[in-house]
Amino acid sequence: MPNPDFSTAHTKAHTLDSTDLLRHVAEQFVLPEGIIYLDGNSLGCMPKSAMADITQTAQQEWANDLITSWNKAGWFDMPTDYGDILAPLIGADAGEVVISDTTSLNIYKALYAGLSLRPERHVIVAEASSFPTDLYMVEGVLASRSGLEMRLEEDGNILELIDANTAVVLLNHVDYRTGQICDVVSITEHAHKMGAVVIWDLCHSAGNMPIDLNKHNVDLAVGCTYKYLNGGPGSPAFNFAAKRHLADIQQPLSGWWGHAKPFAFDTGYSADAGIRKFLCGTQPILSFRAMKAGLDVFTPLSVTAIRAKSMSLTGFFIELVERHCPQLSVFSPRDSAQRGSQVSMNFEGAYAVIQALIERGVIGDFRMPDVMRFGFSPLYNSHADVANAVEIIADILHSGIWRNERFQTRGAVT
Ligand SMILES: *Cc1c(COP(=O)(O)O)cnc(C)c1O
Repeated sequence: MPNPDFSTAHTKAHTLDSTDLLRHVAEQFVLPEGIIYLDGNSLGCMPKSAMADITQTAQQEWANDLITSWNKAGWFDMPTDYGDILAPLIGADAGEVVISDTTSLNIYKALYAGLSLRPERHVIVAEASSFPTDLYMVEGVLASRSGLEMRLEEDGNILELIDANTAVVLLNHVDYRTGQICDVVSITEHAHKMGAVVIWDLCHSAGNMPIDLNKHNVDLAVGCTYKYLNGGPGSPAFNFAAKRHLADIQQPLSGWWGHAKPFAFDTGYSADAGIRKFLCGTQPILSFRAMKAGLDVFTPLSVTAIRAKSMSLTGFFIELVERHCPQLSVFSPRDSAQRGSQVSMNFEGAYAVIQALIERGVIGDFRMPDVMRFGFSPLYNSHADVANAVEIIADILHSGIWRNERFQTRGAVT
C-alpha cells in the first residue's frame, strides 16, 4: 500500500532524478532486484564489467597463459599502473600512488614512512574517534620501536596537540561514524608549520568527493578501494606519497616487491627509489582486475558532479527522515559542505531496525552502540532510492515490527 504521506517525497525524487547528470551511471552496476542498497560505504556494488574482467583473467591469463602473464598481461606492474589510474581521483600525480595489501597494512607502512621523514621526533598524533584499525596500527608501531608515544585527540581540538615533538599526524578525512569532513587544508597547513608530517586516511572520501592532495601539500595518504571505489570485497588498498618525499621514505615491510631489483635476487634489501617501495610481496591479481573495473567507471565522470549528487542524496535523506521519522536523531552534519556521503542516526534499538530493514530489502548498517548508518553512492543510488528507503524506515518504526524477537540476534559481522 503506498503511503499517501510520501507522495510529495516521490514527486520530488522524480524531479531530482530526471535532472541528475549521473543517472545513467547506475546502468554500469549489478543492482540486485528488490534491494535498496545504502551500504556502499562498507562494500560498493559490483560493476558489470568486473565479471567479464575476472573471467578473462581466470580463463585466459591464469588457466592458459600461466606464469607468462606476469609480463604479457601486465600483472607485475598492476600496483603502479592502477595507482596511476586512481591518482587523479585524489589529486595525485602519476608515480605517487601504489595499490597493494590492505588499508591496515598500508597505515603501518605510512606511519613508518612518516617517522622516517622525522627521525628526531617521537610523537604520533591521532584522533580517539578514528576508525579503530588506524589506532591499532599505531599501537603496533609503538610496540615495535622504543621511545615513541601516541597522543590522542578527544576534545575536538587536534591543532593544540601538534607541537615540536610531533613526527606524524594520522587523521581520517571523513569520520566513519558521523560523516563529518575533517579540514584537510587547515590541519595540513598547521602540522607543516609545526614541522610534522600528515597522513590522511581517505577510506570514506575517495570516490565521493574531490580530493586535492598535491594542491594542499599532503605528505602521505592511504585508503581502501572496496567502499566508494567499488573494487570488490577485500580489494587492495592504496598508499600515496608526495614525490618530494619518495627518495627519503623508508617502510619496514621490506619484501622483494619493494626491492629496487626484485629479480636480481640480491642477498640484501635495497628499496626501490619510487612509489614501488611501499610494496611488500605478491599481489592478489584477480582482486586487482575486479578493482580496475571499479576505477574504470570513474574515468569519464566529473568528480564535481559526483560530489554534487552525493550532497543532494544525503540532504534529501535527512529532509525526509526529519519529516517522517522524528524518533530518529540525525547526528551527521546538517551543513552539506561538512558532510561526507553518509548519514548516521541514533536510535535505541538501531540494531533491530537495521535487521528489519534488511528483511524489507533496505540495506544500511549498524555501528555500536546505537547507530544506524546509511551510505549513498552517487554512482548508483537515486533520489527514488532515498524516498523508498525512508518510506520503509517510517513504516518499520510506526508499526513497531522491529521489536520482534527475530530482529534481535546479532551475527559475527554487523
Ligand atoms: C574501512 C576503513 C579501514 C579498513 O581497513 P582494512 O585494512 O581495509 O580492513 C581503515 N580505515 C578507515 C578509516 C576505514 O574507513
